Amino acid sequence: MSYSFEPVGQVHSCFREKFGIPRQPALAPASQAVIELLPPYHQAEATEGLESVSHIWILFVFHAAPSGEAHLRVRPPRLGGNRKIGVFASRATHRPNPIGQSVVKLDAVEPGRLLISGHDLLHGTPVLDIKPYVPYVDAVAGATNALASAAPGLIEVQWSSEALVQAREHASRLEQPVVELVEQCLAQDPKPAYQQPGPDRQYGALFWDFNVTWHYPSADRIRVLMLSTASA
Ligand code: SAH
Repeated sequence: MSYSFEPVGQVHSCFREKFGIPRQPALAPASQAVIELLPPYHQAEATEGLESVSHIWILFVFHAAPSGEAHLRVRPPRLGGNRKIGVFASRATHRPNPIGQSVVKLDAVEPGRLLISGHDLLHGTPVLDIKPYVPYVDAVAGATNALASAAPGLIEVQWSSEALVQAREHASRLEQPVVELVEQCLAQDPKPAYQQPGPDRQYGALFWDFNVTWHYPSADRIRVLMLSTASA
């Protein structure tokens, strides 16, 4: 038995590469995206009633995940990248069927478009389905997960004065909360847990149309060095 699905939409996202995307939605409330609905679902009838809903479930394809057969056990970054657990005990992107699910805030419903925030979706992600979040069933009182019992700790993010000026310029040009977006994403510490970079090593990630460069002056701190565009 096999099934094939056609996407109902596509994500236009602040996240232009996988590196730097939070590992779950809600961790960066300043992240915004638009779900462009594809015909025939771009018609207003398909989203009628959604304006009554604050959050939606998005089911999507991990289209940029590595291909090839999924392993039975994976090393989630959350566990430091050195402990293996079953693929079905993890939210790894490399899975038997590359399907992701995220609860995100629904900011606005427009004809053919849903404006969302607090997400973890790469630009270009194909959307398979959209469903309303239903608090009385989806928020389970007393639910536990001992592998991920609380949100991961945050790392301190500091700005060079130059980078902060650049971030504010991009913010007004794009009409986006760029300072908050960069701070919230970097506070998750995107680098793999096993890397212990010295202060000379620089990291970069692409958000919207700019690249953010940062380094680690010490193990417990990120300093944002620069925001640059390809044309700059
Ligand atoms: N909330 C989802 C996704 C968790 S994994 C779920 O639980 O199913 C989150 C990671 O998926 C992000 O850090 C990002 O790097 C990656 N990601 C997001 N969109 C992707 C895509 N279209 N293809 C491959 N990886 C993607």
